[in-house]
Amino acid sequence: MLETDFDIKKMTSFRIGGKIARMYFPATIEEFIEIKTKEPDAFVGGNFSNILVSSDGYNGAVICTKKIDTIKFSGNMVIAGAGVRGTKLSKLALEHSLSGLEFMVAFPGSVGGEVFMNAGAHGQMIADVFKSAKVYCPEKGIITLTGEDMEFSYRTSVCQKKPYSVLEAEFILTPSTADKIQEKMNENLSFRQNKQPSLTLPNCGSTFRNPEGDSAGRLLDEAGVKGLKIGGAHVWENHANFIINDGNASSLDILMLMDEMYSRVKERFNVELKPEVRYLGGNNEKEVEICRKLNLI
Ligand SMILES: Cc1cc2nc3c(=O)[nH]c(=O)nc-3n(C[C@H](O)[C@H](O)[C@H](O)COP(=O)(O)OP(=O)(O)OC[C@H]3O[C@@H](n4cnc5c(N)ncnc54)[C@H](O)[C@@H]3O)c2cc1C
Repeated sequence: MLETDFDIKKMTSFRIGGKIARMYFPATIEEFIEIKTKEPDAFVGGNFSNILVSSDGYNGAVICTKKIDTIKFSGNMVIAGAGVRGTKLSKLALEHSLSGLEFMVAFPGSVGGEVFMNAGAHGQMIADVFKSAKVYCPEKGIITLTGEDMEFSYRTSVCQKKPYSVLEAEFILTPSTADKIQEKMNENLSFRQNKQPSLTLPNCGSTFRNPEGDSAGRLLDEAGVKGLKIGGAHVWENHANFIINDGNASSLDILMLMDEMYSRVKERFNVELKPEVRYLGGNNEKEVEICRKLNLI
């Protein structure tokens, strides 16, 4: 399904973003490949919970995987389509008394985005439960990658280096009891309540990656950015690595705030923070300039 001049704002967890020239919603892997063959440069997104989309929109094509949402359990394995929400998958694993996905319980991301990012929390991450993925490679078509092929490390995978699109992923889980799984999920949820903003405060998760051996939140906190406000956005008072859209923030407000956060940490600690949030846009010169400085493009 194709929608032109698609208004993406309400789909993103930041509630920010302009019009996408061509937005595709394939319902199957076959449809995905058909679109990617016709539009090789199409940007692939899942649930847009880690992407700042420019308020000035994007002139190209975007493929959203949310309709590729099949889920198949077999013994202690599960195969999930790229568009399956992490939260949904973790709840289904609980119903099957399978442990390993408790960390995803409040994740707004999709399986494809989570594999791409090697998403993680509470001491668990995708790499720990990953068996293999069906991936679309423009030169070879569909290939199967193992955990080793994926080159997982902190918030990264081979998909960030090569033009790979995740179509579905298989996870190996561990039989447990529903009570134990639920207990772990509850622990994770209560931790998140204090340390991470819920989606009622539009945000994009952690803004910057943790530098090796340190925490971006600690550096930002000591650099005094909590509560800092630019335009319609501010740095969350409870954790300095989160930016909240107060309701009418533009992508430029967010980027200017990121630039200020980056500069304060650089000045105080001589550490150059790297963004965890990704950017999709390119129509606004000032945004492009900040993105270049922050290595977002
Ligand atoms: C409230 C909140 C809490 C969060 N908590 C955490 C957390 O605890 N831990 C954590 O790691 N992250 C967290 N995040 C960030 C985010 O949810 C994860 O990075 C998630 O993996 C992104 O998935 P997505 O489907 O939203 O990806 P998107 O935002 O749609 O895309 C992110 C990147 O993945 C790429 N991508 C998406 N789908 C595919 C695909 N099928 N194939 C290839 N590339 C693809 C995109 O091109 C883009 O570069 C949080 C975000 C929010 C808003």
